Amino acid sequence: MSFKDLKLSRPILRAVAEAGYDNPTLVQEKTIPHILDKKDVIVSAQTGTGKTAAFALPLLQLLLNKQDAPKKGKTIKALVVSPTRELSIQIEENFKIYNTYTNLRTTVIFGGTSIKPQKDILRKGVDILIATPGRLLDLHKQDIVNLDYVETLVLDEADLMLDMGFIDDVRKIERLCTKDKQVLLFSATIPHKVEYLANTILNTPERIEIAQNSSTSKDVKQLLYYVPKRNKIELCLHVLRNTIKGNIIIFRRTKFGVDKLEKTLLKNGYKVDSIHGDKSQTARQDALNKFKKGDINILIATDVAARGIDINELDAVINFDLPNTPETYVHRIGRTARAGHSGTAYSFCSADEKNYIKSIQQLIQLQIDIFENHPYPLDPKAKPIVHKSKKTGSKHRKGRKSQASKKKKKRWY
Ligand code: AMP
Repeated sequence: MSFKDLKLSRPILRAVAEAGYDNPTLVQEKTIPHILDKKDVIVSAQTGTGKTAAFALPLLQLLLNKQDAPKKGKTIKALVVSPTRELSIQIEENFKIYNTYTNLRTTVIFGGTSIKPQKDILRKGVDILIATPGRLLDLHKQDIVNLDYVETLVLDEADLMLDMGFIDDVRKIERLCTKDKQVLLFSATIPHKVEYLANTILNTPERIEIAQNSSTSKDVKQLLYYVPKRNKIELCLHVLRNTIKGNIIIFRRTKFGVDKLEKTLLKNGYKVDSIHGDKSQTARQDALNKFKKGDINILIATDVAARGIDINELDAVINFDLPNTPETYVHRIGRTARAGHSGTAYSFCSADEKNYIKSIQQLIQLQIDIFENHPYPLDPKAKPIVHKSKKTGSKHRKGRKSQASKKKKKRWY
């Protein structure tokens, strides 16, 4: 199938050709016709499948006839809600490429950065708005954003959005748009809570499944290093010195872990930066740009911060901490060996992570090769270290938290 068969107009076809896309990807082929038919869709597809264009191209097509309103008369006709700042920026970058030859205006709004420039652009009028939930509701409350004219609502990375606790915000946003809008829901996986959300806000949706989340590419070599937890940093340095060259992402589970490893690698002279949920927007964007430009070759990240970020040509992924959900392992290592390149995924497994390896291997239906020839082997009999909580004899029942302590709860990603 070609893009022409998808009934897209000339200005869009021209931009797509200039972006170097020869043919639509599977998710585009399956999704675009339904969106053009004004149907609701629920699409399970991961980053890397071309899912952004799968909604961006038909959205532009649907709006093409309505593009000529004077700037100030423009109303938001398409709203894309996305969980993180990086993803939102990336989506807008895609829209900008695809609408080079239209008069449609897009903008992106997200938190953690000055609100004034975003207000100024919105006041000038846009057709398509890409937003993170918090900043969107904030600007709506201030009467800067009007959602009364939204004809299509896109919820991107819905599973991550719910994992991050945005369910109430998403529902609120959905209610603020017109009742008879078209809703497009995209999600890497469709767990029960996403299904439930879809059932309540989508209208007889078409379902499109781009199965990918339980298989790993044959081009990714996977290696497992058993290592005591306390030796992981030494092992990481050893592997970086002796084995891996090129562009590397190292995944850790917590932002604290990311910071700690970054300090060590910097001290050892590596060109490294990091991204996690507590870093400012500019710092995160800077780190990504440096990595993409080649100023640094190691990026340390939490899963949430790195989710969906389009970085090509990775030589290696290090799972410094193993993820506790096996699908996350598949996401992580899917970032290497893209587009015909080969790559390697190194996984460090300590005694307390052995169960994670079991469920990963079950999901991918593969025994990962164990690499034993390294200086920090794990005693096979080593038992996980269990941190026993001290009994304080508190009279307060477990699970009761004061308002103050709830407020202090910080993001771990
Ligand atoms: P996404 O899954 O939306 O993050 O897209 C992953 C990458 O695929 C991006 O770099 C897109 O520019 C690229 N892409 C999207 N559609 C196509 C296509 N039809 N042909 C080639 N590359 C594409």
